[in-house]
Amino acid sequence: MVRPVIMWFRQDLRLHDNAALAAAVATGLPVLPLYVLDDAGAGRWAAGGASRWWLHHSLDALSRSLDKLGGRLILRRGRVAESLMELASTTGATAIYFSRAYEPFNARIESSLKDVSQARGIDVHRFAGTLLIEPETIATKDGKPFRVFTPFWRALQQVYDPRAPAKMPARIVAPKEWPSSETLADWQLLPTKPDWAGGLVASWQPGEAGAAMCLGDFVTGALSGYAGTRDRPDLTGTSRLSPHLHFGELSPRQCWHVIDLARQRSPKLDTGAASFLRELAWREFSYHLLHHWPSLPETAFKEAYAEFPWEPDRKVRQLQFAAWSSGRTGYPIVDAGMRQLWQTGWMHNRVRMIVASFLIKHLLIPWQDGAGWFWDTLVDADLANNSASWQWVAGSGADAAPYFRIFNPILQGQKFDPHGAYVRAFVPEVSRLPDKYVHAPWTAPDDVLARAGVRLGVTYPRPIVDHDTARRRALDAFAKLKSASDD
Ligand code: FAD
Repeated sequence: MVRPVIMWFRQDLRLHDNAALAAAVATGLPVLPLYVLDDAGAGRWAAGGASRWWLHHSLDALSRSLDKLGGRLILRRGRVAESLMELASTTGATAIYFSRAYEPFNARIESSLKDVSQARGIDVHRFAGTLLIEPETIATKDGKPFRVFTPFWRALQQVYDPRAPAKMPARIVAPKEWPSSETLADWQLLPTKPDWAGGLVASWQPGEAGAAMCLGDFVTGALSGYAGTRDRPDLTGTSRLSPHLHFGELSPRQCWHVIDLARQRSPKLDTGAASFLRELAWREFSYHLLHHWPSLPETAFKEAYAEFPWEPDRKVRQLQFAAWSSGRTGYPIVDAGMRQLWQTGWMHNRVRMIVASFLIKHLLIPWQDGAGWFWDTLVDADLANNSASWQWVAGSGADAAPYFRIFNPILQGQKFDPHGAYVRAFVPEVSRLPDKYVHAPWTAPDDVLARAGVRLGVTYPRPIVDHDTARRRALDAFAKLKSASDD
């Protein structure tokens, strides 16, 4: 009997530039492609609702692509090590190939797999493929992990080897008999009662082909102006590649390569390309941080912030969190962001910063609560990026925004959504207000409100907190924290 090998897919749901898959195929042996849904292994970081929607469609796309190569995607639910050992023992597989994942729970899963497979005499082959560089391969001059982005970015550019991504395999050798598989429908990853995924369906095409299309559109579209438009939620100024990158439908190496080629062919893309690659490096920085500080998703990176005096009244916190998460704070740019998130599973980066700052600094609600909401509602929910970014806004993170930087949601709206197009798209209640008032409806005279059909407190909420008062309260809270940490 020819004994097969297992290709265990994880956050690398692609055929192109997948070193683990290429190595499995290169053995010349039959390959058993496998995906394991291990919610218990992920614990509290099991995929949230929007991610589960994406995962369903991405696995479906991967399964079709594998079929075309003569393969078949086997689905199993349960603990990773047990599922892999069970498949190995029923098929006689001798080796497991997979791409490394960096979340602390994934690192634990990998180490338990290593132990059990060693005991059973099964070879385990781990490959890189999710990042441009492995987190432990670069360090400061003192040999320490980076805490500051700019030197990290400089070091990355020095060590990164920009070789071309690998091609996809031409064919997968099938085993004589395919082992059994669960079905995607069994897993019930899609919402049913209610089915809230209509906006996601309209906004995204999960899967490798969708990812390639998204990158292609970006290169021929927004890339040239990216450096200037990346902060504008009212324009299609960014790539929207984040969910594709999170699920590994596209590798960062593929992105780098395509962007680099484009800039070589057309020097007018140079500024946009440089700016985009720098953003891609923020993703690397987040993973570097998560690898070296695995408690990043739960606890403040800067220890002093663990004692932050959050809003003490639980009831107030609950009410205000509900207003924030449902997009009913009375600040249109905040509400537009939270509704974009709910409807499409994604939010523009600038608006993520504004809504996060609002929750943490205007409402004094812990960043972990906001990160948890994002975890459930974002299609690109990513433990490294989400945790590092929330801590960045809170001021508690590495290379973070200073605590006194409290976004003014009115000025932010006026600056980055100057004609209110973004707000109007997601907050129809205020869409008929003139530009001058669309970011601050409560400042509009009564007759203007009446003409626009706005009845404050009835059709659209009054602001749940006053900006100046909230700002002073936040600064006081941070001052208390600072004096406590100076003691
Ligand atoms: P582009 O501007 O086109 O950037 C290209 C890629 O670079 C992105 O797809 C992403 O992978 C990476 N990138 C860009 N900006 C950042 C950044 N600031 N930090 C890290 N990586 C970046 N990103 C996630 O992928 N998942 C998250 O869960 C997540 N949570 C966030 C929470 C908060 C509070 C904030 C402020 C930011 C968060 N981000 C997260 C980072 C950023 O908002 C998104 O990566 C970006 O909006 C995705 O849109 P895009 O693909 O069009 O980005």
